[in-house]
Amino acid sequence: MLGFNHSMAFFNFKFYKPGIDLNYAPKEFCREYYDLKQSYGHGQLVQFMATVLGIKPAFDDWFPYKHLSEIERICRKYHLYYKIDWVFRPCDDVSGVISGGNRLSTTKMYGVPLSEARADDGLHIFFSTNKDQLEYAYRNGWYPLILGNRAIHKPYIDHMRFGESLGYPPCCIDFFRRFNNKLIYNNLYETLRNTNGKSHKFCNSILKDNNFSYIYYMPCSWNCKRTRLYVHRLRNKMLKLEPDLVQKIDTVLALPVVVFDEQFSYVFQGEVKENRIEYSDCKFVGVVPNDQYSDDFAQGDSVIVYDNRVEIFNKNQKIKSINTRKNAGFIINFGD
Ligand SMILES: [Zn+2]
Repeated sequence: MLGFNHSMAFFNFKFYKPGIDLNYAPKEFCREYYDLKQSYGHGQLVQFMATVLGIKPAFDDWFPYKHLSEIERICRKYHLYYKIDWVFRPCDDVSGVISGGNRLSTTKMYGVPLSEARADDGLHIFFSTNKDQLEYAYRNGWYPLILGNRAIHKPYIDHMRFGESLGYPPCCIDFFRRFNNKLIYNNLYETLRNTNGKSHKFCNSILKDNNFSYIYYMPCSWNCKRTRLYVHRLRNKMLKLEPDLVQKIDTVLALPVVVFDEQFSYVFQGEVKENRIEYSDCKFVGVVPNDQYSDDFAQGDSVIVYDNRVEIFNKNQKIKSINTRKNAGFIINFGD
């Protein structure tokens, strides 16, 4: 069983300086979801909130099997329907399972039925306030899979329907279909190339696995109009329930970012001046094995980004030069 653009890895984030704080719990609303996911160091708090509020038609997420009764309790409290898909067990290398398996551009997992689940296996669960929308998401939210020696890829129409069922705008679904092939494109760079004008913090999904994002998809542009309209609606509702959380999210989303790849970025407390960021703090965002430069950034106070090269400075002394692959290592300035 394969999973496009989702990772079952239970992330941990490195913390080494006061400054950027990526921990913030809601006071009350959806606090149970936050606590459950936070024990694994990641979560999609805002996506869960958006589903409970009925703004996001459906939501899918992963939980260790041992938490099933807790999940049932949360669903009862927030009036959510849920449906369990397959159960996932990590399996990074499928090259021995299928010829060409090492070239599959996706996360790899074993899929087992619920009846065979072990305590730490990952449950893939769909949630919605509406039964029809839940069923629509479940039917189209299947993963490409390997059966026998054949990889069965998901047809385009099912990707479109699944994106629609999760409330993603059509422009962003289509963009994802065209550019989310890691062997050819850096999707996040293509999004930047497709951005006319200033990047908007509402479209910032770099921290999507760390609770600080209003959206969970990679948008078609960093100021996608449909995304901004969706976030505006959601944010207005959230403001009434968790105003402090909204303020915290807005602050974090406005921080400048240096992106190397999906799940491989750094956020900075600092100021962007053309291709340079002068900063007082930096944090890695992504999956831990990708973090190659936290120690270097921690020793620096500014970073300059060129084509195919990123340089880190301390008091104008260069302390690190990083050669990057094409279209990797670029700044996105989400500040006002
Ligand atoms: Zn869009």
